[in-house]
Amino acid sequence: ESFQDVDMGEIIMGNIALSRYTRPTPVQKYAIPIIKSKRDLMACAQTGSGKTAAFLLPVLSQIYTDGPGEALNAAKQYPISLVLAPTRELALQIYDEARKFSYRSRVRPCVVYGGADIGQQIRDLERGCHLLVATPGRLVDMMERGKIGLDYCNYLVLDEADRMLDMGFEPQIRRIVEQDTMPPKGIRQTMMFSATFPKEIQILARDFLEDYIFLAV
Ligand code: AMP
Repeated sequence: ESFQDVDMGEIIMGNIALSRYTRPTPVQKYAIPIIKSKRDLMACAQTGSGKTAAFLLPVLSQIYTDGPGEALNAAKQYPISLVLAPTRELALQIYDEARKFSYRSRVRPCVVYGGADIGQQIRDLERGCHLLVATPGRLVDMMERGKIGLDYCNYLVLDEADRMLDMGFEPQIRRIVEQDTMPPKGIRQTMMFSATFPKEIQILARDFLEDYIFLAV
C-alpha cells in the first residue's frame, strides 16, 4: 500500500513526496480511488484518521485532470471546489493542508470563517480562489454581499457534517448547497464526511448525494 497506487499527477505526487506522508491511512486508501472514479461519497471517519488528505488529494488531482488551463483561468471568485467545515480551527487546518498539497500548482486555496475581519477575507478572495474552505455562516454572508459565486463549484465537501448539524448550521448549509447557481447533484461531485451516521445525516446524504458509495473506516 502506497500513494503510488493511484496516479494523481506529477504535481500532487511530488507534494505527497514532500510531505511526511509515506503510507496512506485506511480512509485515504479507500476514499481516494472512489473520489477519483467521480462517485459521490458518504464516509464515516473520525478526526485524526487522515480524512483531510483523503478528500483534498483526489479533488486537487481532479481539478488538474479536468483541464487546468481553462478551469483555473475562469475561476477568480468562482471556486471550483468548496469545503464546508464547522469551526475556524478545522477550516484553518484544512486550508494548511490544501496549501501544502497545492504547492507549485496553479490552484489557489482560500479560507473564510466568522469572527475575523471580512474585508481582509474579501480582498484575499479577489486575488482568485480555486479551492475555498469556509465555515457556513461566513460563506452565506459572502454570498449575500455578492463576493463569491458557486456557479462553477464542481466539487463539494462537507467535513464533520455531524458537528455542523450539532452547531445548528443546517439552514446555512441548505442555503449554500440548494441555491440555484450551485451545480445540482449528479453534475457536481459531493463528498460528505462525518464521525457518526444518525438520521439527520442520512437525510442530508439523501438530499445532497447522487448514487453514493458508503464508506465506514
Ligand atoms: P486529519 O484526520 O485529516 O485531521 O489528519 C490527522 C493528522 O494526521 C494530521 O496531522 C495529518 O497531517 C496527519 N496525516 C494524515 N495523513 C497522513 C499520512 N498518510 N501519513 C502521515 N500523517 C498523516
